[in-house]
Order: sequence, then C-alpha cells, then structure tokens
Amino acid sequence: MAEHPETLCAQTLFGTDPINGMIVPSIHPSTTYLRDADNQYRHGRVYSRADNPGYEVAADLLTALEGGKQSLLFASGMAAATAVFFALDPGDHVIVPNAMYWALRAWLLDTATRWGLEIQMVATEDLAAVKAAIRPGKTKLIWLESPANPLWTISDIEAIAELAHKAGARLAVDSTVATPILTRPLSLGADVVMHSATKYLNGHSDVVAGALTTAREDEFWTRIRSNMARIGGILGPFEAWLLQRGMRTLPIRVKAACAGAMDLAQRLANHPKVAEVLYPGLPFFAGHALAAKQMKGGFGGMLSIRVRGGEQAAIATAAKVKIWKRATSLGGVESLIEHRSSIEGPTSPVPTDLLRLSVGLESVDDLYEDLSQAL
Ligand code: PLP
Repeated sequence: MAEHPETLCAQTLFGTDPINGMIVPSIHPSTTYLRDADNQYRHGRVYSRADNPGYEVAADLLTALEGGKQSLLFASGMAAATAVFFALDPGDHVIVPNAMYWALRAWLLDTATRWGLEIQMVATEDLAAVKAAIRPGKTKLIWLESPANPLWTISDIEAIAELAHKAGARLAVDSTVATPILTRPLSLGADVVMHSATKYLNGHSDVVAGALTTAREDEFWTRIRSNMARIGGILGPFEAWLLQRGMRTLPIRVKAACAGAMDLAQRLANHPKVAEVLYPGLPFFAGHALAAKQMKGGFGGMLSIRVRGGEQAAIATAAKVKIWKRATSLGGVESLIEHRSSIEGPTSPVPTDLLRLSVGLESVDDLYEDLSQAL
C-alpha cells in the first residue's frame, strides 16, 4: 500500500467502485441497513448514527495519514475534543495548556469542571512545568495543542508522552494546525490525535467537522466510540463526502500555506508597524528549535502579528484589508485575518494588539501588499 501522503490523499484509499466502476466514492444517505431474514446483520452495519460507509473514506484516510489504528468523524472539532474528556471519570485530574483553542478552554473551565474533572492549566511548552503538575495515579489525561492558538507555542509531544505514560496517564494532541502532513503525534507516543477537520483537512471553509484517531483500540477508545454512537454528535453523509473531497489535496495545500506563511513572517518581521511576529518558523521564535525537530516539511500556515499602537491600531488594520477576509477560523484556501481577543472576550489571555493570520493559497505578494497598506 502507498505510504506517501500525496498518494494516499490523491487516491483516498477508495480504489474504484466494483459495481459501476466509479473512481469517486459515493454519498450514502441511508439511515438504516437491512437485517437478514435469519435476524443477522451480515453487511456489518445497523444504523447510521454509528455506521455509514461514507464516513469510512475520510476516516480510513486519516488513520493512514496519522499512522493510527482507527478514526472517528464527529459533527465538529468541539464534538471530537469533548468526546475525549467525556471518556474520563469524575475526579480525574487533567492537564491542559494555558494557551489553547478558546472555546475548548472555556468548556473545560465551565462544563467539564462542573461534571467533576479537575482541570489544571499549565504552560505545556515548559517541560518542567508539565512534570511538576503531573500527579501519578491521579492525572489521567494530558491534552496538548501544538502549535497552539493563537501564540503558536510548541509543546514537546515525545517528551510529554513519556512523562504521561510513566505516570499512568494518556496523551491526546489537538493537531489541527500541524495536520498529519507536518506532525504525526501517534508516532511520537501520543495515544489520541484530534482535529478540527473544519480547518486544513477539509480546507475549503465549507464543512464543520471533527475527527479523532487512536493509536490502539483499547478500553478508553471503546468508551469514546460507544459514547459517539449513543450521543450522536456525528457528521452528515454529505459533509463526510465533502471532507474526503477536501482531503484529496491536503498535502499540496499545506505545503503551499507553509511556504506563504514563512515568506510573510519574514517580510512582516521587518515591517515598521509590526512590533512582533509569532511564527514557529522564525529562528528567534521561542519554540523554533523544537518545532524544527517535531514538524517535518514546514512550520504551518498560521502566524500572528502584534501591531504597534495597540488594540485600536490592530482593529483598524483588520478594517483596511481588501484581499484578506476578516473572519474567524483557519486552514481554508482563502486567507483570513482576525483580531483574536475580540472573539475570545474579556477573559482571553491573548494580547489585545494581536492579529491572527491564516495564510491561504493566494499570491504572497498580493497578501503582503494588502496587509502592508492596511498597516
Ligand atoms: N481546535 C482548534 C485548534 C481549532 O482552531 C478549533 C476551531 O477553531 C477547534 C479545535 C474546534 O473545532 P470546530 O470549530 O470544528 O468545532
């Protein structure tokens, strides 16, 4: 079987349809499946809250890209992420990053805490801080996001996996920004990988979806899978089809976004109106050496800038762009700009002068000139 992501994605592992010879997978809208006369389900599928052949195209492709055992698709990245926490028990101690995707951070501090999880926020880019926070026997999960929204801090997946396992805990990684093209957390020791498939995996800003991939089919994964089938935070058949369609171009889109982001980061670092550029590819970025070790083939398509003149200057810059789209989200073919603390609200730890940039596939010259005139 092909190993290279370019080949895996272009072909989606689907091959051809044996009945009609189609080279593209079909959409399967059926909610239910025929039971045999002798009361068996020999087709192996019962009801589409758990089973649909259309989910398997994107899920199996993701499993191959991540080098995992199995993947599940969810209705959103949040549905996927929360499924991991719902597989824990009340009273479990969980370590999560200080800087992370804000809606998950808010859910952890609010709902997950009310449901009995003990959530501890740690600067996970600091290995000593992670080590100090672990309580052997009590800590059941460490959650990482690397690079992490929107400061793009890098956490050492391999070293933290070792610490977690020594203490009897699991490691889950939100790898939305890295994508399996740049980092394969399972190969570094993580137990579960999570994606907001809304972002790079789909890549066209037209599907909200999430995914989990496991390193092994253990009791924890069985809990996640049966919770998904019971609670039903599943993807629709059309969305699953759009997801696999987007994934076919994942490697080429990610490489182009990385090249564009690196070029822009370097140019913006010399811009007089920019106080700081946050991008793991820049040699003076705090997590650069670790990113160079952990990320293969690029540093991602996401960067942030801190605008001289503070919050109002940042908001005014976003107001003046003509090519960049002023919108939240990331990982699509079109470049997005966002004043991040406005969407995260007053409890956000994000600096108020920060603009988050998701670099798409436009000409870098056009993107730079547009941003430069806005600055
Ligand atoms: N994780 C990261 C890093 C994200 O950027 C997002 C969404 O922006 C999510 C998780 C949540 O995913 P979704 O919006 O698909 O629910």
